[in-house]
Amino acid sequence: MKTLMVFDFDHTIVDDNCDTWVIQSTPNKCLPVSLAKTYQKGRWTEYMGRVMSYIGDQNVTPESIRSVMTTIPFTDGMVELFTFISRHKNDIECIIISDANTLFIDWVLQGAGIRPAFDKVFSNPGSIDSRGYVTVQCYHSHDCIKCPINMCKRKILEDFLEHQDKAGVKYARTIYIGDGGNDLCPLKCMREEDIAMPRKGFTLERLLLAGVETKDGTPLKPRVLAWSSATEILNELKALIQ
Ligand SMILES: [Mg+2]
Ligand SMILES: [Zn+2]
Repeated sequence: MKTLMVFDFDHTIVDDNCDTWVIQSTPNKCLPVSLAKTYQKGRWTEYMGRVMSYIGDQNVTPESIRSVMTTIPFTDGMVELFTFISRHKNDIECIIISDANTLFIDWVLQGAGIRPAFDKVFSNPGSIDSRGYVTVQCYHSHDCIKCPINMCKRKILEDFLEHQDKAGVKYARTIYIGDGGNDLCPLKCMREEDIAMPRKGFTLERLLLAGVETKDGTPLKPRVLAWSSATEILNELKALIQ
């Protein structure tokens, strides 16, 4: 049985946030205050739609947005980790569940030559419209009260595991790697044999240290292993599969 690795993207695979990094593609490398003020809590994807429409209005082409996106820095050790994963696809399946968008994620991964490490990317669908503007849609709707309206990562993970199970695919273990508050919900559907890997010093680790319980009041099941560099994730992975 394979190991399933599930990655968040912003501040996990890359050491920044795609949605703020893209602002560097504007002529003044900043947004007008009037636009920045339109963000409403829990409505990030709609806000990004307005940001991308502003960037399009500045005559910034998709090609130049793409070249700016490929300069986003990777977190320490990540490129090496994904190079290893690419070479061990018989043992490892690897997916991304991210609240960024599919277009930016593909651009960044292709830029570094590591797209083949990933079997699937679950994110808000990004595309380029007929005007050459980047557009972003909400990923799905769900009924989880803990998560932002456009994305519950637990629902995505549960649906994926169920889909795989129906196709006869079971995993020896799932390893979840993330940093943010929205990476907590998916840990609630994980098993004893699974591993939760929060990035040290970020929100998810703080939430886990505070002690989180599942809906029925039992503690989270997966073992928790915090990391600072992806080299630590690579070493853990090597020990598990070799
Ligand atoms: Mg993140
Ligand atoms: Zn949720």
